[in-house]
Amino acid sequence: MSTPTVTDLTRLREQLTRPDGTTILAAPGDPGYDVVTPWNLSKVVTPRAVVLAETPEDVAVTVGFATDHRLRVAVQCTGHGATGMTEQDVQKADVLLVHTGRMNSVEIDPATRTARLGAGVIWQEVIDAAAPYGLAPIIGSAPGVGAVGFLTGGGVGPLVRTFGLSSDRVRAFELVTGNGEIRRVTPTENPDLFWGLRGGKGTLGIVTAVEIDLVQLAGFYGGALYFDAGDAEQAGRILHAWRAWSLSLPEQANTSVCIFQLPPLPIVPPELAGRMTIGIRYASTASAAEAADLFTPIRALGTPLLDAVGALPYTSIGAVHADPPDPLPATEEGIMLAELPAEAVDRLLELAGPGSGSVQLMVEVRRLGGALGRAPEVADAFAHREAGYSFFAAGVLMPEIAEIIKPQAQAMIAAMEPWSTGGIMPNFASDVTPDERRKCYDEGTFKRLADLADAYDPAGTFRIGQVVRH
Ligand SMILES: Cc1cc2nc3c(=O)[nH]c(=O)nc-3n(C[C@H](O)[C@H](O)[C@H](O)COP(=O)(O)OP(=O)(O)OC[C@H]3O[C@@H](n4cnc5c(N)ncnc54)[C@H](O)[C@@H]3O)c2cc1C
Repeated sequence: MSTPTVTDLTRLREQLTRPDGTTILAAPGDPGYDVVTPWNLSKVVTPRAVVLAETPEDVAVTVGFATDHRLRVAVQCTGHGATGMTEQDVQKADVLLVHTGRMNSVEIDPATRTARLGAGVIWQEVIDAAAPYGLAPIIGSAPGVGAVGFLTGGGVGPLVRTFGLSSDRVRAFELVTGNGEIRRVTPTENPDLFWGLRGGKGTLGIVTAVEIDLVQLAGFYGGALYFDAGDAEQAGRILHAWRAWSLSLPEQANTSVCIFQLPPLPIVPPELAGRMTIGIRYASTASAAEAADLFTPIRALGTPLLDAVGALPYTSIGAVHADPPDPLPATEEGIMLAELPAEAVDRLLELAGPGSGSVQLMVEVRRLGGALGRAPEVADAFAHREAGYSFFAAGVLMPEIAEIIKPQAQAMIAAMEPWSTGGIMPNFASDVTPDERRKCYDEGTFKRLADLADAYDPAGTFRIGQVVRH
């Protein structure tokens, strides 16, 4: 194995040192370096140094230095989608990590119903800042996820059928490209970058701020209702009923179903811990009476272990999926489905239902369609609008199941292949091989993204992690 390059970072450290002597560059052992530890603890993130960027200029200086010295630059906010740094990555070139956590301003403009977010902002902060005006950002299942990381992958959330892809609401990005230039990116300024940033993840540079449209939405009717999975017959009855019901829903109503095996932890409701359960999630923007009425067939399926569906303020949107907030060593495998016929539900039950031997924490199917299926006003690099459902298996990498958890999830994905579109959502592709990464895009989109990367990052500074390159 070749010796890794070791670049002298003294000049960069000087450039990133403030007049009071404090520096925002941290090498291993320095105070501040530990922010590299991602939310997903199964990923090893070991850059040569981390830059705790406070301004777009900090990012520009870092990228410019890296490009001049042939280093690579990765970006991280929360680490929910961390890709990790392999031995190979670190051998090829020194890697600097730009951590965006300090660029955390949230500005709400109630008059235009827009928000400007620094790249370090997480969704919960936007929800809380917008709520006093009755406004809401269209977010994903977990409010702890970073807004920019989510939006650069498109963003499919619990209200996706009603409001469409979250990145359809982006008005502008501020971006640092491979030569260290800061650019404003809108449908009319750098339109090729505006196309590629909505779906292309970190391929085209480091986003330092984003401007988005908010929607007028103070609350919704929804949450989750949990049944004991019982035996295969009971689980089948519930899942088949959910499938048929999910097909009947109008665009205002959104749903997903999840087979859970939750551990007995303080954050897990005791009714759900230590057993297999089926959670039916629901989120509707109709009136509470109409939305409750539409949910009646699910409530009629039996006595739930827990019924947490009702009228909620938008600040509680995270309750629909109730994803774990704290860092954990997570595994994830996902695929897009064109349709979900009854045979697919039977296959899912065999592999993930009672008696299957599944060790996954959750195996989830989301109903898509609705507003997601319509072309955006300005074309983008998200290639999965035609999918009817998404399928996703996630687990916790515990020593006793470490060997089987990923192959088992992959077997589930393979079993769903007959009904899949062949696509993988970019936001659920932090753990895929380069070949699988191609499945995040159609051929034309992949090529255009890779061409743009060649044009805006000819030195390959961003050639690490979740990026598209020839
Ligand atoms: C519990 C959980 C729930 C989730 N729910 C959903 C969901 O409902 N819908 C959905 O669509 N996704 C969902 N995701 C996936 C999530 O959107 C992605 O993992 C996203 O990349 C996380 O962004 P982050 O900034 O928090 O993570 P990070 O790990 O910090 O960043 C991940 C990647 O995002 C890109 N990125 C981050 N910041 C920047 C930047 N400033 N400039 C350019 N690129 C950047 C880079 O490619 C980076 O490698 C979920 C993930 C988890 C763990």
